[in-house]
Amino acid sequence: MEIKITRAATLKEKPDSSTLVFGQSFTDHMFIVDYYAGKGWQDARIVPYAPLQIDPAAKVLHYAQEIFEGLKAYRTADGSVQLFRPMDNIRRMNASAERLSLPQVPEDLALAGITELVKLEQDWVPSEEGTSLYIRPFIIGVDPALGVHSSHHCQYIVIVCPVGAYYPEGLAPVKIYVEDEDVRAVKGGTGMAKTGGNYAASLRAGDRAEAKGYTQVLWLDGVHRKYIEEVGAMNVMFKVDGKILTPDLNGSVLDGITRRSCIQLLKDWGYEVEERRISAEELFEAAKKGTMEEAWGTGTAAVVSPIGELAEGDEKVIINNNQIGEITQKLYDELTGIQWGRTADPHGWIMKL
Ligand SMILES: *Cc1c(COP(=O)(O)O)cnc(C)c1O
Repeated sequence: MEIKITRAATLKEKPDSSTLVFGQSFTDHMFIVDYYAGKGWQDARIVPYAPLQIDPAAKVLHYAQEIFEGLKAYRTADGSVQLFRPMDNIRRMNASAERLSLPQVPEDLALAGITELVKLEQDWVPSEEGTSLYIRPFIIGVDPALGVHSSHHCQYIVIVCPVGAYYPEGLAPVKIYVEDEDVRAVKGGTGMAKTGGNYAASLRAGDRAEAKGYTQVLWLDGVHRKYIEEVGAMNVMFKVDGKILTPDLNGSVLDGITRRSCIQLLKDWGYEVEERRISAEELFEAAKKGTMEEAWGTGTAAVVSPIGELAEGDEKVIINNNQIGEITQKLYDELTGIQWGRTADPHGWIMKL
């Protein structure tokens, strides 16, 4: 499909890379394509970045019919720009769309929306250490009607924004609180889809954890309220007694691409990785016995985020003396090495633009 480009009349001033705040300054253009049931996708276009015109009755605003993705474009030492596993994001986007009764975006169209926009905005890809261009594709249902029904008119949109180094002062361990009241998702619900509703339901617990002095919550499963699922909006891994433990993809855990990449690297390095049900109790016991060696979250924004403290009610345990662990650091170095093109890419994860 041809993409029609309308250039912005004036270009914005690019922000200083050292003061970038995540997700606040967007580039000059955005990609949009419309879908009409019975007609398919049409009118793919790159237009000046601007507020959307949608009806106040649009389904997305009332019934949260939306899904999104998050990936990054990286500037390498030779000045070129590359993406990390973009087809994995596109396939997950279509899996999320299926769950939310949104239309499938043909993979070539989904990818072209990303690559053509990033190519047009390539001067916005920063080059300072640790910086990148964050890419946010999303699909919304915009029918102007309040009846509860899936939308006939949908839009696939891509916006991009330069983002700073996630850890300008090095990887500092975070404090995590086990959430025992709210749940993020249940099997049969939308936990495996990357959809805004999951985030809306998670905000209160995040606010409460912050008020107690914690960075994020550790989510428990919605049925037994016993087994751990994710940490904040990241997947989570533990090194216990030499083995790596991570919750299995049970229908309420998001299939993270960083999670997938970490599992592959850990297996390459000869670690045993157990994807299974893990109770919070098992983790606290390991910590008390001294077999809990490392803990970390995984996600595109931070890559890995070391966990230094875990608390539930009045109980708390410190992990690895509140220091980043050896494997956590090694995963961070290897993944960021591949993403910024400093390290070989044996699994073919990089797509050059
Ligand atoms: C996006 C996301 C993740 C991490 O996925 P990545 O593909 O690694 O960025 C984990 N959990 C939730 C709930 C998410 O939305």
